Amino acid sequence: MFTSINPATGQSGQTFEPLDEEGVEAAIKRAAMAFRSWRVSPIDTRIELLHGIADRFEGDKQHLAETAVREMGKTLASAVAEVEKCAAGFRYYAEHGPAFLAPVEVATSSGRATAQWQPLGPILAIMPWNFPYWQVVRWLAPTILAGNVGLLKHASLTQGCAALIQQMVQAAGAPDGLFQNLPIKSDKVARIIGDKRVAAVTLTGSEGAGAQVAQAAGKALKKVVLELGGSDPFIVMPSADLDAAVKTAVKARVQNAGQSCICAKRMIVHTDVYDAFLDQFTRAMAAVKIGDPMVDGVELGPLSSVEQRDTVLEQLERAQADGATLIGGEKIERDGAWMTAGVLTGVDPDADFAQEEIFGPVAMVFRAEGIDAAIDLANNVPFGLGSSVWSQDQAEIERFVRDIDAGMIAVNQMLASTPEAPFGGVKRSGHGRELGPWGLHEFMNLKAVMLA
Ligand code: NDP
Repeated sequence: MFTSINPATGQSGQTFEPLDEEGVEAAIKRAAMAFRSWRVSPIDTRIELLHGIADRFEGDKQHLAETAVREMGKTLASAVAEVEKCAAGFRYYAEHGPAFLAPVEVATSSGRATAQWQPLGPILAIMPWNFPYWQVVRWLAPTILAGNVGLLKHASLTQGCAALIQQMVQAAGAPDGLFQNLPIKSDKVARIIGDKRVAAVTLTGSEGAGAQVAQAAGKALKKVVLELGGSDPFIVMPSADLDAAVKTAVKARVQNAGQSCICAKRMIVHTDVYDAFLDQFTRAMAAVKIGDPMVDGVELGPLSSVEQRDTVLEQLERAQADGATLIGGEKIERDGAWMTAGVLTGVDPDADFAQEEIFGPVAMVFRAEGIDAAIDLANNVPFGLGSSVWSQDQAEIERFVRDIDAGMIAVNQMLASTPEAPFGGVKRSGHGRELGPWGLHEFMNLKAVMLA
């Protein structure tokens, strides 16, 4: 049984019956059947369905958002914003997707050719709890538009959200088998990846899960997209608007209780403004409003689970044992998965914990003597997902854009995903891209058609 546990109270909520082997087999069969007709469905049918699902998300916004809050603890305001973003994601692919599917003319030495985008088949998505709707939608919307069909293995923590997504898609009139939520544990995943009726797999989550899924996909010679962790740098140079940088750094670090792959996790500050930044930042982190995530104005609720909170506390213990200084970042003694926001200084950048992703509301702050040192520090982790740089100097900005090892860089702003721009990383943050035309094309067959 899956049981939702409210991380704000520690109390159990809804339970969900897991799917057994026969259920998984039936789902794959249905997916394969659905693909036969969906792959040749008129584009207008797909567009209509995408708009229909967007309407459902908008219509049931409050219910969807409250379910996410109860299952993984994000603030209600951010959950509502997430649901609205999902609706926008479906509409983006409905409105812009058809143009991305247009055949491309190719001039060859022997005549004319075109390259045509065709669907691949049933795609398995393994998704995490941190943005329980948006992570799914940024795969599901292009899946539907492409003419593929979807199988979802959602995180154990957010089975209620997973069931609601299924309801929204069905209520919008999706054909049977087009999208199926599979309430299964991760030990069932390798068998699904290996099934010849499943065409490809995508995962958002930890490095460990990514490596296992990539291994199964490699064994079956299947395409895999991986969106894994990050330890994003947030670089502040002397010319930056310091007040804006501090305000954004706090927001970027505590959003989603610090549990976002593109949260700013390492603040790298030029020595000329280091003391001023640290002073303001530490005070602002201490002033973050902690409380019931359902209440308006609360900035930091509980973490997603007691296990997740304890993982972060254990990392902080190791940091202190290694000589780092921690301000805040303490367990709050009450039922649920609570802790305060915190700041770590005096961190050895090569220490084990400094090479890990801290998936909670605690920032490391580093001093950089100059731009070279800032870039070296930024790149001194195994990850390469996002980054944010703060400077008014065009030459510095160009250096950062050129030299930071990351899939994404935000200049004088917080990094956030948007339906139009590519999303993904390099190094151990994974490979492949989601969103925009790139996310749509990841799971399509670009067929070369040679014409006489
Ligand atoms: P996981 O990577 O374990 O979970 C993400 C998804 O993968 C879940 O659906 C999970 O299922 C599934 N999964 C886990 N192990 C396997 C496996 N061996 N084979 C197939 N599927 C698997 O993340 P956690 O929730 O445990 O969080 C741990 C850490 O992962 C965090 O501290 C953070 O560092 C990172 N993370 C990164 C995210 C990101 O957005 N990049 C999102 C979430 C986590 P189940 O829930 O049933 O285990």
